[in-house]
Amino acid sequence: MKNSCPLCSSKKVKIISKEKNIAFTNLSSELKKFILSYCNNCTFMFQSSAYTKSYDKKIKKVYENYFVNHTFLFPRTDKTIIDSVDFLLPHIKENALLLEIGSARGDFLYLLKKRIPSINILGIEPTQDKVYIPTINSSFSDDLFVNKFDMIVMRHTLEHIKYPKEFVEKLKKISHKDTLIYIEVPNIELNLKNLTEDFEPDHVSYFSLYTLSRVFNNFKIISSSTENFLRVIFSNAGTNKEKNKPKTIMNPKKNIETLYKNKKKFFQYMQNENKSIVFYGVSHYFYFLAYQLSKHISLKNSYFYDDNYKENFEKRFKLKRISSLQNTIVILCSNVPSVQNKMLESLKGIDCHIIKPWSKV
Ligand SMILES: [Zn+2]
Repeated sequence: MKNSCPLCSSKKVKIISKEKNIAFTNLSSELKKFILSYCNNCTFMFQSSAYTKSYDKKIKKVYENYFVNHTFLFPRTDKTIIDSVDFLLPHIKENALLLEIGSARGDFLYLLKKRIPSINILGIEPTQDKVYIPTINSSFSDDLFVNKFDMIVMRHTLEHIKYPKEFVEKLKKISHKDTLIYIEVPNIELNLKNLTEDFEPDHVSYFSLYTLSRVFNNFKIISSSTENFLRVIFSNAGTNKEKNKPKTIMNPKKNIETLYKNKKKFFQYMQNENKSIVFYGVSHYFYFLAYQLSKHISLKNSYFYDDNYKENFEKRFKLKRISSLQNTIVILCSNVPSVQNKMLESLKGIDCHIIKPWSKV
């Protein structure tokens, strides 16, 4: 249990939520204890219960067994990844050398290279077995490289790191003076505002634009977007001179309490319902939700709905595709506002009960 802030070392840290038996998206494990803390000095939010040896042991196992979904076509072209490509593209020069840390199958770099064929791409990824771009199969370490990169990409990676500031310092060693660093992480302010849950136990750090800019104190913000995730481009040239006061996150404790209360009510509600259940979207977030729901009810009357999924059968939970959503309970399997809105749009005129995790049931 960590009693000081991993970002600013302040002791002014308070616990804002304690939950039991929180599931890893990977099916095989759960955390007995899940504690979130908030730093009153710098407003950083983190999973204070993760700073133990037993957590490290568990998370290592989770990463080794990370579920690889080969059912999605390569490259994935859903809205969130295309938005990221469009955001980054104007900042990439011809012939640039790009490194992505945590590159998974390589979908993102592949899409960038398709748009600017002269760039050189390299991924580094410890967990994937099948990749589609040149990839080093390893965890990141700065001494793996002798060259400097023009751009370093980290999408949905930094939230898994316990000491992000120390990690980012290592990036300096593989950067030259004009290197750009692209960071994409969940936006904790957005999640709290919309009561969307992003507290998967493999996430340990929860960023706002303010706390992320503190992590990158020795870099300068070139461009940023807070709409669906935090998308920020930092430059190694110059420092973050903004001396803005920390922007206090509004009511983190109250919002998280409401979120978990709504979630509990949802499980109770589902235990008393006989309608067919439809999981809308069978990506990463689906596994997180379906696993938790399966702990409360049987999923034998459950189906899935997803246009991007090529099979008619979902192997992990053994769900069949459904074509008509009439008179069903539809669970939106995403915590991204733009994706949720698109789903809601497509459900217009259909007589079904829509569940948006974790708004009130
Ligand atoms: Zn702090």
